[in-house]
Amino acid sequence: MLDRQLENVEMAEQDAARLVVRSNTESGSRPEWWIFQANPEHYAIEDALKGLSVLKWTVNRYADKIKPGDRAYIWKSGPTGGILAEATILDKPREMSEAPQELSFYLKQNSIVQIACRATLRIDKVFDKPAVTRSQMKAHKILKEMLIIRQPNGTNFPVTEDEQLAIAEVINGASSGSGQSDRGDEGLASRDLRAYRAWAALTRAATERQVITYGQLADAIGIYHRAVRFTLGVIQDHCLNEKLPPLTILVVNQQTGLPGVGFIAWDADDIESGVRSVYGFNWTKLENPFVFAADGTSEDDIVNELVENPTQAEHVYARVKVRGVAQSIFRRVMLQIYEQRCAFCGLNYAEALEAAHIVPWRHAEPKQRLDPTNGLLLCSTHHRLFDSGRMGISIDFKIIWNSRKDEENSSSAVLAISIALNGNMALLPAHSKHRPLAEWIRQRNDILSKK
Ligand SMILES: [Zn+2]
Repeated sequence: MLDRQLENVEMAEQDAARLVVRSNTESGSRPEWWIFQANPEHYAIEDALKGLSVLKWTVNRYADKIKPGDRAYIWKSGPTGGILAEATILDKPREMSEAPQELSFYLKQNSIVQIACRATLRIDKVFDKPAVTRSQMKAHKILKEMLIIRQPNGTNFPVTEDEQLAIAEVINGASSGSGQSDRGDEGLASRDLRAYRAWAALTRAATERQVITYGQLADAIGIYHRAVRFTLGVIQDHCLNEKLPPLTILVVNQQTGLPGVGFIAWDADDIESGVRSVYGFNWTKLENPFVFAADGTSEDDIVNELVENPTQAEHVYARVKVRGVAQSIFRRVMLQIYEQRCAFCGLNYAEALEAAHIVPWRHAEPKQRLDPTNGLLLCSTHHRLFDSGRMGISIDFKIIWNSRKDEENSSSAVLAISIALNGNMALLPAHSKHRPLAEWIRQRNDILSKK
């Protein structure tokens, strides 16, 4: 599969997805379910599902009924057949040629029909083995009546609401926690582990002054190459946050030798200098920022661990050494225990909320850096005012405003509100184990008084 084609397909996919949204809103009609059948003697359907995320499918019947937004079960015919995947129909069936990237999946050249009525499918979910087998359906009181069982000749079969519910039941019952993988959502448990492996592969490439293709990186991570971009996003965010050279610029398209759009994090007209900066950086002096995930631990696990047991903060910090990752975890913990409210003004927009340290990060001991009792959730204005010492908190949790003479002439509404908060109780977590520790507040006051 050519990467260039993949990009085109992806773009077509995005355009089509927008069309779907529009046409569904316009018509207001409910999405229907279909079964689309593939004959494994003619077409390597399982390989195609592994390799492609968009397929064109012949529509011989119901062309006037099948519409964008409808869903389809991909069915493999024959004795070992069954439902292999779920898909969304992206456009109205119409005359179109077979997609070039699909030609290699045909097992008999003479079964390729170039122009035919087709619909474009986005593959949403692929099952490792048939999620509902032909024999399961034959044994099922509702499903045994389906056309795909009784009269399986054809390509497109309607699915009634009852049948769809029954299929969904079998799928959910059969696939509880195994044998099923979602495209696009790799699962949080493995996201950081994948980032850990990708970091190792990318920094090795950088040290050897080499680029790496999507395919090579996918092999190094142990994932399907379409999924690489999710991992690259995590790495790119980390490099941006830490002001590191753009490591993801080393991942190139095998055909063009160029980095993928969206993962450059650099001036697109001057990729060369970006690559130079990556090669010139001493990556070996950095520890892998995702090392905490090497044993399969996810960021979610750590957030939960800290919320559950804040006294483990030092132990957790020992595992999460990189400042960007630690701060991201700390903020998530604080958002959760403060129920997404600024402890001073109560502002509840998550995007405006930050995790402040009572004993500042640079003065903090390792055990204080991820400790929720050394934190406050504050809006960005109150975070600045807190860090600068203009605002504070007393050991009995009252908000303090340290006034200055130059305030009298200000007409700022935010300032007026902040001054008025003086003496109010801070809005603190419900559970006492999460509230600021008096010892940290005293230590902070000592530090500020020496400034
Ligand atoms: Zn605030």
